[in-house]
Amino acid sequence: MVQIRSLIRRSWVRIPAPSPISPSRPPTAGRDLVFVCRRAFAMRRRRSPAVVRTRWHSIGVFSRSNVSPSVSPSLSMLSAAGLSYASPTQKARVITELWAGTRLYCAACPSDAVAQTPNNNAAFDFVCPVCEATYQLKSQCKPIRDRIVDAAYGTMMKHIECGRAPNLWVMQYELPGWSVSNLLLVPSFAFSASSVEPRKPLGSTARRAGWVGCNIVLRNIPVDARIDLVTRGQWQKKDDVRASFSRMRAVATGDAEARGWTLDVLAVVRTIGRDDFSIDDVYAHEAILQRLHPNNRHVRAKIRQQLQILRDNGFIAFTAPGQYRVVSG
Ligand SMILES: [Zn+2]
Repeated sequence: MVQIRSLIRRSWVRIPAPSPISPSRPPTAGRDLVFVCRRAFAMRRRRSPAVVRTRWHSIGVFSRSNVSPSVSPSLSMLSAAGLSYASPTQKARVITELWAGTRLYCAACPSDAVAQTPNNNAAFDFVCPVCEATYQLKSQCKPIRDRIVDAAYGTMMKHIECGRAPNLWVMQYELPGWSVSNLLLVPSFAFSASSVEPRKPLGSTARRAGWVGCNIVLRNIPVDARIDLVTRGQWQKKDDVRASFSRMRAVATGDAEARGWTLDVLAVVRTIGRDDFSIDDVYAHEAILQRLHPNNRHVRAKIRQQLQILRDNGFIAFTAPGQYRVVSG
């Protein structure tokens, strides 16, 4: 996948404008509005507070339909959207994606809408039409536990290495009412090699014999990077979600290896479970960190370096030599 940002910039001249839209005509319920650039989208978004469904057609080309006359924070999904699907998996995908496309927002910028991509786009399900952040939705009716089943292991590792993994929404919904009970967001930069594990290759009788999928291991991702949007049927404040997202973005910088170290040490700090802790409490997890970073021969030095990064970004404070305190977010 080529960088979305650079493609969109280039596409401003390359893609011809679809059917012209009069800038003076306000959006009408049910009518598709097609526009070709982020600026046009932002302008139209300001013109109407209506809940919209935004679709991503191709690089730089979005369309928008008003689907509700007013902003509604409803957690109920439209189950009728899945009536024409026999497969329960397909039905759930259509129903949950329709809801996400009309109710979810971008955490990386102030955009209150995301655009749904065509179904054949395997890399991501939604794109922010303003900042081009990409999102993937995983939904299940089971409680969200340690592991989330994801796509191909090799592809995911490559995306992490290149910093191109999409942000991940993990949804738990309730049946038979089709209502969202829990929803969390894992920012793209919070994925590291330790947060992904390969599954067993498909057997020789499978259609894709030998194919290796992966699990996202949620417990290896620091709790700070598992941002709650909906908890037990209640929305969290949008401002808090965006603040948590940008706090993590500030600390998870650098290449995949550097990011991975910071995230892994932060996960260890959260595992300790006390506000006050010592360097020895972190060293006690040295073997785990060594296993996650087998090529590093100076794990203790790396731990001290990462604790300084966490201090500089306001996650912890140094209280005395070798003593630390967790700073609440
Ligand atoms: Zn955005």
